[in-house]
Amino acid sequence: MRAVALHRDVIVVTSQLFQAHCTIVRNDAESFAIDSPVLPEELELLASLVEQAGFPAPQGLLVTHADFDHVLAPLAFPEATIGCAQSTAARLRAEPGAAQRALRNFDEQLQIERAPLSLGTVQPLAVPGRCAIGADELQLHEATGHTVDGMAVWIGWARVLVAGDYLSSIEVPTIGEGEGEGEGMIDAYLATLERLAPSVADAEHVVPGHGPVLDRARALAVLDEDRTYLIALGERGEDAELPPGRRSKAQRELHAQNVARVG
Ligand SMILES: [Zn+2]
Repeated sequence: MRAVALHRDVIVVTSQLFQAHCTIVRNDAESFAIDSPVLPEELELLASLVEQAGFPAPQGLLVTHADFDHVLAPLAFPEATIGCAQSTAARLRAEPGAAQRALRNFDEQLQIERAPLSLGTVQPLAVPGRCAIGADELQLHEATGHTVDGMAVWIGWARVLVAGDYLSSIEVPTIGEGEGEGEGMIDAYLATLERLAPSVADAEHVVPGHGPVLDRARALAVLDEDRTYLIALGERGEDAELPPGRRSKAQRELHAQNVARVG
C-alpha cells in the first residue's frame, strides 16, 4: 500500500490490488475517506496511516458507487457513517447483501480471510450537490454509465477530482449491466465524461477508480480517448478501436463484454 500527499489536505492511498485508491480529505477538524483499499492488511493499517499523517479520523466514508471494492472502508473505520449518492443508496437497498456476497466470492477465490463487512448507517446525499466538510465543501457530480449509480467528488480548494471508476489510464471504459443496459449506458457514460470535463480542466490531480493518479493534461487525454472509444463502440460495436495503451488481452475481453452489453 502506497500513500502520497496530493495537497496538504489530501492523501491518496493506493491498494496493491486493482490499483484501487482511498482518498483521505480533511478540512479543519473534519476528515472523510473516499472509497477504500482492498486487502485486509491495508484496511487494518489505514487508521494508523491517517493518524500518522496528522489527519483526524474520518467521520464520513464517501463511496463513489456500490461496487464491492469501493465500500470496504467500514472495515477500517467502523464508527464512521457511509455517505453516497442517492442512486447508490437505492442500489444498496435494492440489492441487500450484494456487496458482501461479491466480497465473499472474491475472498474465496484468493483465499483471503477477513471479518464480515457491515456497511452500518448509509446516508444518501443529493447529487448533484454539495457536502460540507470543516469550513469548506465538496462538490458531488453524478457519475453513471459504468454502473447505474454513483458520483464523482470535486475537492475544489485542493483541485483534486476523485472520479470513481472513470478516467482510468489502464482500463477501457466498461459500461454497466442492469437497467438501462446497452446504448443507454453508453449515453450515460458519455454524459458523465461531459459533466466531469470542466473539473478535469481545472484539476491539479485526477484520482481514477483504478490506475495511476493523473495530472490535468493526461486526464484530459484519457477523457478524449474514452469519448472516442465509446462513440465508436456505439457505432461499430466489435470493430471499435481500443484506446492506445489499453489493448492487452484483458482489455480486449472487457471490450468484448461491452459489445455483448450493447447487444
Ligand atoms: Zn472499481
